[in-house]
Amino acid sequence: VSLQLELFSKVRSRGRTSVGLTFASLQSGSEGNATLVAAGKTTLIVDCGISPSRLEKRLAAHGRTIADLSGVLLTHEHSDHAGGAGALARRFGVPLYMNEATARAASGRILRDEDRPFRHILPRDGALAFRDGKVVDASGAHDLRVEWIPVPHDAADPVAFVVERQGIRAAVLTDIGHASPAIKALFETLDLVLLESNHDRERLRDGPYPRSLKQRIASRLGHLSNVEAARLVRDHAAPRLRALLLGHLSGTNNAPALAEEAMRHALAKRRDLDLAVHLTYRDRSAPALEA
Ligand SMILES: [Zn+2]
Ligand SMILES: [Zn+2]
Repeated sequence: VSLQLELFSKVRSRGRTSVGLTFASLQSGSEGNATLVAAGKTTLIVDCGISPSRLEKRLAAHGRTIADLSGVLLTHEHSDHAGGAGALARRFGVPLYMNEATARAASGRILRDEDRPFRHILPRDGALAFRDGKVVDASGAHDLRVEWIPVPHDAADPVAFVVERQGIRAAVLTDIGHASPAIKALFETLDLVLLESNHDRERLRDGPYPRSLKQRIASRLGHLSNVEAARLVRDHAAPRLRALLLGHLSGTNNAPALAEEAMRHALAKRRDLDLAVHLTYRDRSAPALEA
């Protein structure tokens, strides 16, 4: 395996003090998802829908390896989010964090008995804190604190994760059928976000997908369209929101320019925001955000 190094210059937020939080999309879209969130000696990824060898390559773009991973947070069992997680646990002993229903739904193909020792079941509500790569009491000193909320999507018990460091909050909001009240409330607390901008509504409608799949994607348990993502930002971004990554773009029903245009249009109504908008990619890492 040749490791193709894709070293990026880091994107820093202007004029703000840094808390040492790194947030980076390693890959985003229906071919596989993984997002890096790291601080101190804790390195987490949200979702692992890519193989360990591909993950190794994506991490190398950020100067990291699988050995650096403290754990994988799984949002739901769909293979583009969880497909590589079992192999990562079995081969490299990386701990996996997910809720009971996700574990049950992923059992068989993605998860097997041999990765059971590496699985950690999250309660419906709660928080998890990490220090030096290990789970610690959330009330004490930590590198990162993780929270989660349920999201509307056609999986067993899908969640969105928010990772916090010294009051700076980064969330991965992909695979959400619509902006639920909980998502809107969460959005108002964020500094950094990877937000799904899955499809252009007209492209989806007129595109090649079978009717049933089109309905699934457009439904309240499917994926956010460009316009829905843009409206969520326009109506619920707080002034603290400093960086937005457009994620989970469909290769068939979307184009980066369409997603960016919808967001730019919505942001014209929010001149109060000092917000950097970045793309993510279906076949490579995106530059890391440093907060
Ligand atoms: Zn999904
Ligand atoms: Zn997905």
